[in-house]
Amino acid sequence: MIPLRKNIQQMAGYVPGFQPPDEAAWIKLNTNENPYPPSPKVVAAILAELGGDGGNLRKYPDAASRAGRVAAGKLYGFDPSWVIMANGSDELLNNLIRAFAGEEEEIAFVHPSYTYYATLAEIQGARVRTFGLTEKWELADFPARYEGKLFFLVNPNAPLGFTYPLEFIENLAQRCAGMLVVDEAYADFADENALALVKKYENVVVTRTFSKSYCLAGMRLGLAVARPEVIAALDKIRDHYNLDRLAQAAATAALEDQAYFAECVRKIRETRAWFTGELRVLGYGVIPSRANFVFATPPDRNGKRVYDGLYQRKILVRHFSDPLLAEGLRISIGTREEMERTIEALREIG
Ligand code: PMP
Repeated sequence: MIPLRKNIQQMAGYVPGFQPPDEAAWIKLNTNENPYPPSPKVVAAILAELGGDGGNLRKYPDAASRAGRVAAGKLYGFDPSWVIMANGSDELLNNLIRAFAGEEEEIAFVHPSYTYYATLAEIQGARVRTFGLTEKWELADFPARYEGKLFFLVNPNAPLGFTYPLEFIENLAQRCAGMLVVDEAYADFADENALALVKKYENVVVTRTFSKSYCLAGMRLGLAVARPEVIAALDKIRDHYNLDRLAQAAATAALEDQAYFAECVRKIRETRAWFTGELRVLGYGVIPSRANFVFATPPDRNGKRVYDGLYQRKILVRHFSDPLLAEGLRISIGTREEMERTIEALREIG
């Protein structure tokens, strides 16, 4: 037998959302991708970086991804020393655990939220604690002082889509002895974010992704905003060339084209409102969403039945086997036309 570390032997590994081989034949609403293409300026920047003969690819990229840090710093009102660019925000979540939680040390997150935190903790050999949610979307049994090394809070919550009030997040920052990571993968679709708390509390880190609001899931891009000491630690442990040249060009152009970004977010929010209303007409329970997906429960509370019906019609949504979530479905917001077809399908399924 190969001499694997025990926790790697035992772990199951993360299962990403299903990717059908004939993607174009499906309405794909299962991994919260953006239905629109990225900004034309992003495409132009990628092509310019590629150049006529691809000669730039011969050379290593900027190891520090400086242009992206400068663009993000300018956009969010931080010195670039407070920003790090990453190969998807997943890379940041991984490196935060590696930087702050050693073997047998504890990390925590809300249940339900992003299950990848648990996988990353398993790889590291860190222990996991979860806190459930009350009916008012507050944390059940959260101690006056939480002594774990890291606490991950997804805001807006995924897969449920609601947001925690900022005062609540600030209170958490005060109660966490370790780091509070606010995973803002979906915050661009909401009204508020926790960036101001990064300036106020040394233990707050905000992570963002380009996969949702910037229509760039295929480029693998994320960023974090935190104190320079935190950024320096993350810089020590990342792959030294973590972003390739095309991704760096795309990131900077995407951050700089705020007009395109705003229009894209506006369309998603508009479609989200329409889709939520239509679901309710069909008798679905829908949690008001501030993300680019909704969590919806059919009248018979049988998420799997509806998932199967949609699947037969080549509409892919997310059904979770977790008993807390199995009654409902997480449905990404696509184009208006895709959502109209989804409503028609749901009407047929009944
Ligand atoms: N956090 C949450 C809550 C997510 O849903 C996702 C996307 N699955 C990520 C982080 C990772 O995003 P990225 O594509 O930037 O790695």
